[in-house]
Amino acid sequence: LKVLFTFDVEVWCDSWQTLDEDFPRAFERYVFGRSPQGEFGLPRALETLDRHGLRGVFFVEPLFATRFGHEPLARIVGLLRDAGQEVQLHLHPEWADEARPPLLPHMQGKRQYLHYYSAEEQRALLGHGLRMMREVGVHGLLAFRAGSFACSADTPDAVAAHGLAFDSSVNPVATVSQPGKALDARAGIGEPFVHHAADGAQVGMIPMTVFRDGVGRLRHAQVGACSARELQEAMTDAAEIGWETFVLLSHNFELLVPGQLRPDRIVVDRFEQVCAFLAREKDALPTTGFDGLALPRAPRRLPVPAVSRRATATRYAAQLMRRLA
Ligand SMILES: [Zn+2]
Repeated sequence: LKVLFTFDVEVWCDSWQTLDEDFPRAFERYVFGRSPQGEFGLPRALETLDRHGLRGVFFVEPLFATRFGHEPLARIVGLLRDAGQEVQLHLHPEWADEARPPLLPHMQGKRQYLHYYSAEEQRALLGHGLRMMREVGVHGLLAFRAGSFACSADTPDAVAAHGLAFDSSVNPVATVSQPGKALDARAGIGEPFVHHAADGAQVGMIPMTVFRDGVGRLRHAQVGACSARELQEAMTDAAEIGWETFVLLSHNFELLVPGQLRPDRIVVDRFEQVCAFLAREKDALPTTGFDGLALPRAPRRLPVPAVSRRATATRYAAQLMRRLA
């Protein structure tokens, strides 16, 4: 089982009304996450992966730079390159109307999700993202993930049109991910499949991995939202069932308490535990990039991995501790 340890890398300002004023502070928080206790943004994530000998995939959001210029994007990419980690494309169309000039003709107001855009507009937005990445020296990208997983049935064609080989935008438990769920019908829940585009190109569709938790609910495998034990058991079970890939999710800012500049100790410890687990299990559960991935084989409608009640109880205990803290 190959583990794709993915991180969505993005910068958000407090308010769309005061973007230019807020941006320098937002960039420092989201990218570096400096606190009196140390750095808990990208440098911390990169240092932890490196210390455990793990490969990460960083889906970098470049459209913010159409407003603020190339330099901040180049700094993000520089950090990832220096760490030897893989860079891929992430896109939040929230920036399309904030760009100077706006990225699409006749933009009227903000359209948050990629699935609000026509097939042609999606192709154009991906083109802008890839152009921004090229302009900071990033070439040969292989994979795409829509912001908030908010793809539509048109997204795989837009991905194919730009020659990208993989898409990781489908999330079976995110309601904003491909409304109508047309893509879900092509394979088992969260199972990879191949999309054949109209022009004959093929895209390997690698959805977000979901598992059944100890009380029977489907969850996606996100470091900030599951216990370390849930993630470990889900990966182990997926390997036993015969899954070939497992997509883990985190973000550049996930080690910080939301809206604050201090580390979330529970998530910091959990991230460390998950990395230590993957380092121990590196023969059975190697971390890989999209550069080490073949196109998925025909769907087998495999059952989703499941975890024990105890693993889920650990998450509830952590939530309770956080509430009491
Ligand atoms: Zn995102």
